[in-house]
Amino acid sequence: MPFEFKSSVDKWVKCISSTGTIRAVAISATEIANQMRLRHEASPASTVALTEATIAGLILSSYCKTGEKINLNIKGSGWCHQAIVDANADAEVRGYVIERPQDDVHLGSGIGPWGIGLLSVLRTKFDEAQPYIGSVPLLTGRLPKDLTFYWLQSEQVQSAVGIEVVIDQKGVVTFAQGFLIQALPGASETDIKFIETQIAKIQTSDLDSPQRSSPTNVLAYLMDQHPFSILEEKNLTYKCTCSRERVERALALTGTAELADMLRENKDVTVDCDFCSETYVFSPAMVGKILKENS
Ligand SMILES: [Zn+2]
Repeated sequence: MPFEFKSSVDKWVKCISSTGTIRAVAISATEIANQMRLRHEASPASTVALTEATIAGLILSSYCKTGEKINLNIKGSGWCHQAIVDANADAEVRGYVIERPQDDVHLGSGIGPWGIGLLSVLRTKFDEAQPYIGSVPLLTGRLPKDLTFYWLQSEQVQSAVGIEVVIDQKGVVTFAQGFLIQALPGASETDIKFIETQIAKIQTSDLDSPQRSSPTNVLAYLMDQHPFSILEEKNLTYKCTCSRERVERALALTGTAELADMLRENKDVTVDCDFCSETYVFSPAMVGKILKENS
């Protein structure tokens, strides 16, 4: 069965200023992050990388319309080869990282843990056949900074992004929070200055301070004196779309020669889902059936 875990505590909260010129989203993802860590049996470095990428994916998908989804793909020279996250407008997310051995990590001076590389976002709109792809180079190795550049470059929106992930000595995520605050068309210089000031303030505030205790409090702090309304509050779900049928189709696509080889070995064939670590087992009889149906 495909994996699904709906969090009763993690959520995203979105708001807009009453002037309509500033919007923001704040996300708490500690529980979801630990579910992913357990499913993937992730190392401490991979846990932080996956959690950061998951929050980034959710920030991106929080501005998707109903039915839209995004795929975030980060390739870097830092703590992992690649991080892949799928997220949609319903706050459903799944993801994984491809680990890199510690002795293969290459970071230039002043470069953050992701290293240098490429950050791509594939946006699939339900009413358009062609997905939209936006890519920016990973320049600073710090995901919040490189995402800020992504919004400026691909969507011409002045933004500020914050992502904070803390793990304890056992690798358990104890804090996972993210936010995005954006100046919409019509925003003044004053609005942009205000955003910069608020971001600087929240980033120096303690993680256990009241303003960081929930997404709503983060928004109240970020928006400060600006009146705003909450647009949406949604609980997060770690949800995979894999299924036995899909894995069977993928097996069939490996070709009849490959399937015949598997059959000759006369052993169970196991396939693990990258996104949720679910294991699908196919007996030799089942492999034989797939082979028969596809030859
Ligand atoms: Zn899966």
